[in-house]
Amino acid sequence: MTHIITSLCLRDGGCIEVCPVECIIVGKPIEEWPWMYIDPDACIDCGACVPECPYEAIFMEDEVPDDYEATGGEYISRLGLDGHYEATDHYDETVILDCVKKLEAGEIVDLTEDIQANYDFFSDGPGYD
Ligand code: SF4
Ligand code: SF4
Repeated sequence: MTHIITSLCLRDGGCIEVCPVECIIVGKPIEEWPWMYIDPDACIDCGACVPECPYEAIFMEDEVPDDYEATGGEYISRLGLDGHYEATDHYDETVILDCVKKLEAGEIVDLTEDIQANYDFFSDGPGYD
């Protein structure tokens, strides 16, 4: 089991510094890997990262919802989307994403689609070494 960061992640970065095994990796290049990614082989499922996320983007793998109901105004960030997002992160650095969509209240999103991207990052993406 591992924890999974979903497309609700907007690269705030606060989760990275609380992980005791330093297994949360910044996605680069941002155009291809817009989130942070959790190394499934290193994550000890301590849960410390979950409350740090201002966007509630992190779940236990078997608890990632396939029917996430938007409260309205939050963003998802996925390749293929073309919305623009700009904000300041946990470190006062500017974050710009051009693959987002702002969700409407009550909109249902299947976040389980995001699980594979996390594994791909470490199997054949930049997290592989
Ligand atoms: S705290 Fe949340 S939004 Fe920020 S990098 Fe971690 S998962 Fe992404
Ligand atoms: S659950 Fe714990 S070990 Fe896994 S990514 Fe989060 S802080 Fe790190």
